[in-house]
Amino acid sequence: MSALVRFAPSPTGLLHVGNARTAMLNHLFARREGARFLLRIDDTDMERSKPEFEAAIITDLEWLGIGHDLFARQVLRADAHRAASETLKARGRLYPCYETALELDRKRRRQTAQRLPPIYDRAALALSAEERANLESQGRRPHWRFLLSHAKITWRDLVRRDVEIDTATLSDPVLIREDGRFLYTLPSVVDDVDFDVTHIIRGEDHVTNTAAQIEIFEALGAPVPHFAHFPLLVGAGGEALSKRLGSLTVRSLREDEGIEPLALACYLAKTGTSDPIELRGSLAALAQEFAFEKIGRAPAHFDPAELAHLNAKLLHALPYAAVAMRLSDMNIGGGAAFWEAVKPNLSRMLDAANLWLIVKGPVAPVIEDVHLAENAAALLPPEPWDDELWARWTKAIGDATGAKGRALFQPLRLALTGCEHGPELKKLLPLIGRAKALARLNGETA
Ligand code: GLU
Repeated sequence: MSALVRFAPSPTGLLHVGNARTAMLNHLFARREGARFLLRIDDTDMERSKPEFEAAIITDLEWLGIGHDLFARQVLRADAHRAASETLKARGRLYPCYETALELDRKRRRQTAQRLPPIYDRAALALSAEERANLESQGRRPHWRFLLSHAKITWRDLVRRDVEIDTATLSDPVLIREDGRFLYTLPSVVDDVDFDVTHIIRGEDHVTNTAAQIEIFEALGAPVPHFAHFPLLVGAGGEALSKRLGSLTVRSLREDEGIEPLALACYLAKTGTSDPIELRGSLAALAQEFAFEKIGRAPAHFDPAELAHLNAKLLHALPYAAVAMRLSDMNIGGGAAFWEAVKPNLSRMLDAANLWLIVKGPVAPVIEDVHLAENAAALLPPEPWDDELWARWTKAIGDATGAKGRALFQPLRLALTGCEHGPELKKLLPLIGRAKALARLNGETA
């Protein structure tokens, strides 16, 4: 049986960087091992799941370069979930409970007051058939709990090494709500079984779930997959990255921050590992370097500045051929000469559009030194220009006016571009051209 991983987002919000990292680690492992990738939409929460979130998640994954070999939606698998729950009932591992949320809350408060762990006391197990019938006749509907074995569950985690959880320290998890709907725990196991998932790679917030889920795999007579739980990505101050933090969605990184997919991929692949956070040329290269052993045990901090830095570095290294289409889609002209002139100044692709406006105009020049500007205009040679133009022209202006260094170059920059900073003038001037340069040096908007 070939290996299969799955990424199982709930379509209750946009993909955020934490979940994108889960997807990326699954992808890199799959790519390295030649495993297939199942994208499973965990949409059992019908109130909060939305088709538009599902579509957005798929778009974001594709943008990151993460495709899938198999696709499933949990809502369409309700029959399989139902059948598994009947099996568990028949095996005495799923039992009905009638406590209301309020009653459970009272129990928990009492336990806490007595300094006891707030573990469900299994009172419902002691109900007789008559008592249950009685409760049902009062209109109470059961929710269903999985009967944990109260044994020590152990597994060899691919990141955390040997893990042991005593299920006596856990409440029997509720698998089915009183309205008959399944919570996450059982459908996840049933789908993992039916699709033959071999490796479950997810955040360490699921470690406790894993103990219960291993018991469910076993209760269903199914093989238990391998598990890898990596530390979560947290904010700079250690706070959880919630799905609702809009600025940390993949969409906002793409659309608002101008992050390139490969920069984000490299960041997600390397952060929290023993490798330096550096650029690689492709997901295939990242996959070659992927290893669970490199993932550390401390939470990984998401640092937007580091990501922005990586993004800028990636842009600076892009050849014109790699961006020609995008530049033309952005209505940016100037060909390779423009790209080579501006790319060292870019932190986002979007910045190129502003720099193109400086070339194309109209630009309102800033004339700081009238005498210098007049001389510069008078000394600007006719086109065609060669590579020596800039050196010859600025030397002639310097000779005529006595200006040098910043006093020479800054007034030229302000006159030619209207800005205090920007790409090398030597490269910009030929793109601006003689007619516009002369007009700007004469103080005209051009
Ligand atoms: N839908 C679950 C989540 O987003 C999946 C967890 C899992 O990987 O099993 O947390």
